[in-house]
Amino acid sequence: MDYKASENIQDLQYFGEFGGVNPSISDSSTYTFLSAKTMFDTFEGNTEGCYLYSRHSSPSNLYLGEAMAQLEGTESANVYASGMGAISAVILQLCDSGDHIVCSRTIYGGTYALLKNFLKKFNIHTSFVDITDLKAVEAAITSKTKMVYCEAVSNPLLEIADIPTLSELCKKNRIPLVVDNTFSPLSINAAKLGADIVVHSLTKFINGSSDCVAGAVCASKEFCLRLKDVNDGAGMLLGSTLDSLRAASILKNMRTLHVRIKKHSENSHFLAQRFEEDGLRVVYPGLKSHTGHSTMKKQMNLEYGFGGLLTLDVGSLDKANALMELMQKEKLGYLAVSLGFYKTLFSAPGTSTSSEIPLEEQEELGLSQGLIRFSIGLDNDIHRTYLVMRQCMESLGIINGKSILTQKA
Ligand SMILES: *Cc1c(COP(=O)(O)O)cnc(C)c1O
Repeated sequence: MDYKASENIQDLQYFGEFGGVNPSISDSSTYTFLSAKTMFDTFEGNTEGCYLYSRHSSPSNLYLGEAMAQLEGTESANVYASGMGAISAVILQLCDSGDHIVCSRTIYGGTYALLKNFLKKFNIHTSFVDITDLKAVEAAITSKTKMVYCEAVSNPLLEIADIPTLSELCKKNRIPLVVDNTFSPLSINAAKLGADIVVHSLTKFINGSSDCVAGAVCASKEFCLRLKDVNDGAGMLLGSTLDSLRAASILKNMRTLHVRIKKHSENSHFLAQRFEEDGLRVVYPGLKSHTGHSTMKKQMNLEYGFGGLLTLDVGSLDKANALMELMQKEKLGYLAVSLGFYKTLFSAPGTSTSSEIPLEEQEELGLSQGLIRFSIGLDNDIHRTYLVMRQCMESLGIINGKSILTQKA
């Protein structure tokens, strides 16, 4: 792979208004014009580099957008007040009433609810398919289909989308491939693999400190400008504008993203291997037993590893809840949704982040009630973490000496 996102990011250099090493934070909602004609031209979308009103764009948001474009290797990127703000803007920009979407059946619960429930109001319908089954994806595409939507690494089942192959299929059908890359920044360069539009929840790994909510759309310059159009841009008109102060703080956190992703991946890989040896039902794309392992391997940037998420099926919701409560008590992390924090976060998706998906459908997908999703933290001593986690599981009878012996025999 010739594209090196981390090098591009390393080369980004900003000068603040007074020569500061950080760009100045724009603290204005509106901007002056020296001539009335320039104001008119800006409304018409003709004057680059002129600011109008901060819902349209602001210097701080443009800086973060530039960094996001470098991260994904796209021409441009817009930032939003949340991942859902970015996703809803893209979908509503591409779809009219009566249109259709083909979407992976395992996606973030909020995206699922938007597509399945909310967009019905606008007569926009979605077919949910197994994204790893190319024939099923192809068969679902109709003359009304306006996009194929998926996550590079899916939430919460960690299925891997074959982006180059999906991209080919989309090109053949002249529709864009929209990829949510929230789970795998740096590890996967979705745009370089053929995605036309890449969306991110910056709330997770990219910001990495669980202190704010934000999102981004990385795409062509043309599409990013369309989203901002004052007359019919979904980004501009739906109004999920990121605050400049937040844009500036996210940009500063992004500088350590490469270091953090490597550590999240290293720690997750270590735990996944140990849990597998212990005979637990663990899902991690870095394990050879993972159904998407080879797909991920052929499209990832190896140095960043297989990502910071793994799931563990402990058999029942009661056991999952007991384990999570105990792990929190033992200071292993937090019983909380979300991901990408320095501490490990764990939750049972069936009753939390994927509860929008009806129970029967969850079962069909293989999303069992005993499933725990872990976003593994930046623990310095992951071996000690493993030992404490094991103790927790032993004390609840999730693993015991006997079952480990049977597994190893
Ligand atoms: C969290 C998340 C979102 C939504 O992002 P918000 O910032 O919470 O709006 C979308 N997709 C994925 C994969 C996520 O994990």
